[in-house]
Amino acid sequence: MLLTLTATRPGSGAPPATDLGFLLHKHPDRVLERELPFGRSTVFYPEASPERCTAALLLEVDPVALSRHTRAGEGAPLEPYVNDRPYAGGSFLAVALRDAFGTAMTGRSKERQALADTPLPLVAELPCVAARGPADLPTRLFGPLGYAVEAQPVPLDPLFPEWGERPYVRLRLSGTVRLKDLLAHLYVLLPALDGRKHYYLDDAEVEKLLRHGAGWLDTHPERELITRRFLRFRELVRQAEVNFTPEAAEDDAPRDPHPRLHDERLDRVAEVLKASGAARVLDLGCGEGKLLRRLLAAPQFRELVGLDVSARALEIAAERLHLRERPELAGRVRLLHGSLTYRDARLRGFGAAALVEVIEHLEPHRLNALTTNLFGDARPGTVVVTTPNREYNAVFGEDAGMRHTDHRFEWTRAEFRAWAEGAARDHGYTVRFADVGEVHPSFGPVTQMAVFGKATS
Ligand code: SAH
Repeated sequence: MLLTLTATRPGSGAPPATDLGFLLHKHPDRVLERELPFGRSTVFYPEASPERCTAALLLEVDPVALSRHTRAGEGAPLEPYVNDRPYAGGSFLAVALRDAFGTAMTGRSKERQALADTPLPLVAELPCVAARGPADLPTRLFGPLGYAVEAQPVPLDPLFPEWGERPYVRLRLSGTVRLKDLLAHLYVLLPALDGRKHYYLDDAEVEKLLRHGAGWLDTHPERELITRRFLRFRELVRQAEVNFTPEAAEDDAPRDPHPRLHDERLDRVAEVLKASGAARVLDLGCGEGKLLRRLLAAPQFRELVGLDVSARALEIAAERLHLRERPELAGRVRLLHGSLTYRDARLRGFGAAALVEVIEHLEPHRLNALTTNLFGDARPGTVVVTTPNREYNAVFGEDAGMRHTDHRFEWTRAEFRAWAEGAARDHGYTVRFADVGEVHPSFGPVTQMAVFGKATS
């Protein structure tokens, strides 16, 4: 990924364009390399003359390093390594931008403070950047900030125009702005333009992004879309809105301790399992063992078994639960490697089972196998299933897509109900439904939950 910033000297009386180096805090004669958790960034100046000076930020995303930060066992086998992130991830570029030009983003310049405070004719160019959404999105995002915006769609293959276009554009922004503002606009709007779930934006980064929006994002006509694209979950959007005051730029006050959605979901599932009275519990598709950790805290659960198809996830679970260091736990928790799509005698005879955000990871025909194996063969006394409610995705924006790249489907409330009621009827269970997380008046809850009980034993 490449971003160039070009300054041109407006007239011979004006300071040389190479003063850009003072503003960026990067000397035009030097090449600066930085290792980031997801790759390497290099800043260099392909052109540095008194008339024109270009600084380039080259980001080489390392998909292998990246795969270590994504959750184990999710996605198609090669997807963590072969994907478009090295070429187009707006969120990586944003993080690299802040890393390389953080001081410039504060607007301070030891040598050229007056220049840093002056709007200058600047051009930012990105040969390829992800732009998911309507064709006029780049203009809608950058236009209101005073830029002339050129966004040319990048064809999938120039030799085969019939293959269509990719969701990428060649982007050129030109305007007369303070450098600090240009950097803040890019930092906030490139990930918003990308629109994908932001792989490397954790909460702390989201907070920084929003801070760099102070002073301009609050009056931006697309503010809602921009904020929504950062924050996939309603809870966070609300929180960001609360924090969005002009003072937020200086304010380092701790975040409001609003429970995060996944924690809330796990707490709800743990409550249902407790109420079931079960002593032996299965966590099917246990992932990294977050639910197991909660359940271990309750002495009621004498035997806990986590099953996952991903050996890597199980390794992480074993580490997080400190199974090696705490042999006394080994009697209470076991981790099994296996797939819910195969009948498995080890899963028979349990009081309860949980499948938290698991079913949507299976292909529909595999889901049928899971349903039969779980309710027909393993037959736990109680079964708790949670899955996203697709209707709620409208809250994230019209083009938000699925919530995770590995989701094979996301169901509406009616679809979930149809599956659950069918499974219950076919296998002699009763089922009731509950909402988890934020509930929208017309789209319903973020997460839907079904609790099955054996009708006869
Ligand atoms: N329940 C965990 C993890 C949810 S992610 C939590 O709430 O944190 C979905 C998990 O299901 C992943 O760990 C994935 O490896 C697992 N999974 C997907 N298909 C599976 C299958 N066929 N059998 C068992 N586990 C599966």
